[in-house]
Amino acid sequence: MALHATVAESGVKTRLVLFGPPGAGKGTQARLLARRFGLRHISTGNLLREAIRKQTPLGIEAGATMREGHLVPDAIVRDLAEEALASRNNDRFMLDGYPRTLQQAQWLTAYLEAKEKPLAAVVFFKLADDKVIDRLSKRRVHRKTGENYHLDHKPPIGIDPALLMQRRDDEPHAIQERLYVYKQQTSPVEEYYRRRGVLIEVDADGSIDEIHTRTVRELRAGAA
Ligand code: AMP
Repeated sequence: MALHATVAESGVKTRLVLFGPPGAGKGTQARLLARRFGLRHISTGNLLREAIRKQTPLGIEAGATMREGHLVPDAIVRDLAEEALASRNNDRFMLDGYPRTLQQAQWLTAYLEAKEKPLAAVVFFKLADDKVIDRLSKRRVHRKTGENYHLDHKPPIGIDPALLMQRRDDEPHAIQERLYVYKQQTSPVEEYYRRRGVLIEVDADGSIDEIHTRTVRELRAGAA
């Protein structure tokens, strides 16, 4: 069944997936879109990191896999995604980092169609490999706020260095692995959504503001 674009009263597409290689800026753009349009940000990566921090059974199971840059089993992330989607209204959300396999994409289609809330758009943030490596290796994360910084493009000026950390999976060997995993397992999801007519491509090379502007323009395109 074809998906139909849905447009909220604000004139912007709302039920969204943010898709693209690691380091394309999905998390950063999600924060901006969440603030601007009141969309709920659902990041399976953040949910997993939270589970690891709390050392829940799920966190303990997923931790080593994540550090190596591999994908956590579908069943685990599906439960996290389902719980997050089911917890509040299904009309204004952005999934960030989910789906990452064809199987996950198919599950999501079935889940949302059963609720008669199909995706409005999948925003594909396109970024070349060399830029991906630069973004990930220079990313730093604030321990308390979770805010992402980039040593050149968004320097953490005035922030106590002790509060900044590098994600374990942003270390060089894990970056290579994540790129490989993305190409092998995740990139087929792009074609899946293109065929369904919901894929929106955004050039993810540029400043945070430029990419945000491009994304908003695309999310408004075709809106009433
Ligand atoms: P992210 O913060 O989106 O880059 O995700 C960090 C890591 O969490 C990934 O490298 C995976 O190990 C794991 N992860 C997050 N989302 C998924 C998913 N949808 N499927 C499998 N593993 C995931």
